[in-house]
Amino acid sequence: MAGIYIFSDRADIAAEIVGFARAAGKEAFVMALGEEAAQALTNAGADKIYAIDGDSELIESYAKDIAEFLIKAGAELFAVGATPRGRDLAARVAGYLDCAMASDVVSVEYHDNQLTCVRMLYGGAVQEKQVLSGLSVVTIPAGKFEPAQGESTIEALKLKADTRVSIVETAPIVKEGVDLSKAEKVVCVGMALDKEEDLQIARDLAAVLGAELGCTRSIAEERHWLPVESYIGISGAVIKPRLYISMGVSGQIQHVYGIRDANLIVAIDINEKAPIFKAADYGIVGDLYEVVPLLTEALKK
Ligand SMILES: Cc1cc2nc3c(=O)[nH]c(=O)nc-3n(C[C@H](O)[C@H](O)[C@H](O)COP(=O)(O)OP(=O)(O)OC[C@H]3O[C@@H](n4cnc5c(N)ncnc54)[C@H](O)[C@@H]3O)c2cc1C
Repeated sequence: MAGIYIFSDRADIAAEIVGFARAAGKEAFVMALGEEAAQALTNAGADKIYAIDGDSELIESYAKDIAEFLIKAGAELFAVGATPRGRDLAARVAGYLDCAMASDVVSVEYHDNQLTCVRMLYGGAVQEKQVLSGLSVVTIPAGKFEPAQGESTIEALKLKADTRVSIVETAPIVKEGVDLSKAEKVVCVGMALDKEEDLQIARDLAAVLGAELGCTRSIAEERHWLPVESYIGISGAVIKPRLYISMGVSGQIQHVYGIRDANLIVAIDINEKAPIFKAADYGIVGDLYEVVPLLTEALKK
């Protein structure tokens, strides 16, 4: 049956994508892995829910059979929730279909039965518009559409899984750092620090302000001076503190993406042309090894 076929391992995103299908005047068919996941989606407003029944607990193992099912069903679009698992599935299905794919779209609309997608590039600095034709695959993040509501029926869908990969063991990720997304004040260190012991300069300032310590990706991923939970940016934490103070952070777009919602941005950098000053409300041009201890002392008083 033509229409939009949907998968998301998050029920809220599945309901939002059904909402998009409804707004586009299309039928919406939701796929879920197993009966339990299908039950969780019965209020998502779909025309039908397919409960995938097979030999694997990993949705991506069904990618080949899902692709074949979509062709047989005459699907117009496979829309997948942009979660880590969803992205993995979407890419595989698009590979098997050998079709167009747009990932992490911020808006998606039909014009004359052609699908127009808008995606953010370079940390949100640029918007790219893509027009997809024929059966295509898109991934859609949470919060882009009004969720649909309404009862749906469940139909079992027997699919064959590629069982070469299976789950042997699962373990929770142990988080070492603080949850910066909830911090009121953040002091952020960048690659200007010469040695790990110099983090103390930032810790002293953070202590006097009652702030959490954050960093750029390079400090966490290259130098391993702070846990990965501490780095801010497009691939790290997105923060919205009342106060953010950077020291020796150049302000590349991937970092600035994570601080755009900070109330007050104060930047300290030796280079007056550092891009961080464009994002900052207040800037101090100077050597952090001189400026920061003076600032800490002044704040103590
Ligand atoms: C796909 C991708 C994703 C990425 N995601 C992220 C991300 O999520 N978060 C992130 O942070 N980065 C990310 N990056 C990396 C990013 O592009 C930058 O490389 C990184 O943010 C730079 O870190 P930095 O500002 O600490 O270092 P640098 O760019 O080296 O800047 C150091 C700054 O310190 C200043 N300085 C030097 N000495 C002193 C001194 N004594 N006193 C004061 N200032 C001084 C310099 O003038 C300079 O401005 C990503 C990159 C890619 C390609």
